[in-house]
Amino acid sequence: VDEVVVVDLDGTLADNRHRLSHIENEDKQWGKYLSKVQKDKPVQEVISKINDLSETHKIVILTMRSDQTEEDTLKWLRKNDVSFDELIMLPEGHWNVKDCEFKERKLKNMENPVIAFDDKERNCQMYKEKGLETYLVELKAEQKIKKY
Ligand SMILES: [Mg+2]
Repeated sequence: VDEVVVVDLDGTLADNRHRLSHIENEDKQWGKYLSKVQKDKPVQEVISKINDLSETHKIVILTMRSDQTEEDTLKWLRKNDVSFDELIMLPEGHWNVKDCEFKERKLKNMENPVIAFDDKERNCQMYKEKGLETYLVELKAEQKIKKY
């Protein structure tokens, strides 16, 4: 069985900072936030790492991004030459799910997950507790990928 690399999308492969203002206030404008996914800049450092790992590992993109953006997301991934085997998105309408719980549940269905990349500490914590080699991605940092 192939070893699996689990990688997050927003804030990890894709720089979503330009659209975060739509969901920072109490009145969250999810529609606007999601309508701009195509304009995300690629995070080259992470994409290169994932593309290297894809030579020897199965790549699963595991994201809380709603699956109503699946078409735009697939276009973006193709445009930015991201090598991956599977894309797991949050089903539309499941807004109340906590990210680390959703990801933990999906992780349980994977056969041999060994490495994870995510920009949220609590997700990294969960992956680490499950025994994965875990990397925290920080877009603001000069060196964006750090062992967690
Ligand atoms: Mg993220």
